This record gives sequence, structure tokens and C-alpha cells, in this order.
Amino acid sequence: MSTKIQIAVIEDEKNIRNFMATTLSAQGYKVSTAVDAAAGLSLATSSCPDLILLDLGLPDRDGIEIIREIRTWASIPIIVISARTQEKEKVLALDTGADDYITKPFGPSELLARIRTALRHSNRLRTHSLLNQRPYQADGLVIDFEKHLITLDGSEIHLTQVEFKIVALLAQNSGRVITYDSIISKVWGPYADDNNRILRVNMANIRRKLEKNPADPHYIFTEIGIGYRMLEDNGAG
Ligand code: CA
Repeated sequence: MSTKIQIAVIEDEKNIRNFMATTLSAQGYKVSTAVDAAAGLSLATSSCPDLILLDLGLPDRDGIEIIREIRTWASIPIIVISARTQEKEKVLALDTGADDYITKPFGPSELLARIRTALRHSNRLRTHSLLNQRPYQADGLVIDFEKHLITLDGSEIHLTQVEFKIVALLAQNSGRVITYDSIISKVWGPYADDNNRILRVNMANIRRKLEKNPADPHYIFTEIGIGYRMLEDNGAG
């Protein structure tokens, strides 16, 4: 029974904390909770959870500081819980090292889906980056990272180098949001202009080639004010 996946919930709002604890326990996760940053940090260090759900607005310290501190010693997936109006904070949290975020109010299915995605991603990273070799597959779209080949329902899609880099980055992190700044620095380098315009132009071209209806994308979603999220890989393996 010690193989249960352990999740730490750091959240000061009692209702949300209880809701998460109940939902996760019912799914067979082992849950431990903390009501502030100090307790959360000691929980994280003492129990080494498999995943952390972290509220950004804690009474004693900012959740961002917790992410920064944990990232100095661990790569445990961290999913940030935040309010709808905190776009800037979400971006900062992601760029500081959070894996994803979930916006209040949220339901159990959204919470569980985010957790599964984050755990799957961290497992893949641990099992020596198979992610980079195995092609991405979702709903007819196949991306072969080694061959630099993209096919949609069997026909090849021709992307420019930059377009391919963007799509590959999103596909290797499929199911997770990647911030605009993070995409820009990974594709154009750390000193690139942080103006999103060139990214938006490339994304418009990508969508024209990839999506049946670019205005209502099926593969690459926009998270307004934050970044892009690619449809989770749902192929074999
Ligand atoms: Ca709070």
C-alpha cells in the first residue's frame, strides 16, 4: 500500500482544501495538507510528495516564494491554484517553475485531469526522456521529433524551422500550458525580444496549416494572457 501516490495540498481556504482532499482521497491518492507556507514547506521537505497543489495567496508568504524555494532542491510537479484575475501571477508562477495552474472555481474532473497530466509528464522525464524520441500522436496528428516530420491524417504538413520548433516544444509538453516568454526564449534564445508579436504571427501560420478551423483550434489552445497548451498526446504508450 506504500505505492500510493502522495499529494500535498497547500491551501489556506478551508472549503477548497477539504474539497481537494476529499476528491483526491476518493481517487486513491494519499493526501496531506498544510494551511500556510511555513507548514507547506516543512510538509514538502519531510514527506517528499509526488505532486504539490499550491495556492498562491497564502497568509504568511507568497506562493511564488514557495515554488522558488522548492525548485532549489526538487523537481516535484507543482500545480498552482489561483483566482481568475491573477494572469500575471500565473505567468510568474509558471516561469518560476510551476508545472501548470488551475483556476478557481474548478470541479473534480478538471483537478484530476491536471494532476494526471503533471504526473505523466514527470514520469516520462524520469524514464530518461523517452518523450523526445517517441512520436507525439493525438487525433490524427503525428509528430516525429527525430525525423522532423509532421503528418495530419497521413498527409505531410510543411512547417518552417521556427514553426516546427514551436510545435515540437508544445507537443513535448502536451497537456501543459507553456508561457509566451518561455516559448520565445526556447525558440529564439534567451535574449530575444519578449514582444509576443512574432510568436502570434508564427502561431497563426501554424494553425492555418494544422487546424481544420484555425479560429476554433483543436490541437493548440490559447490560454489568454498566459500562453499555449497543446492537446494531450493520446496515442499509444
Ligand atoms: Ca488563499
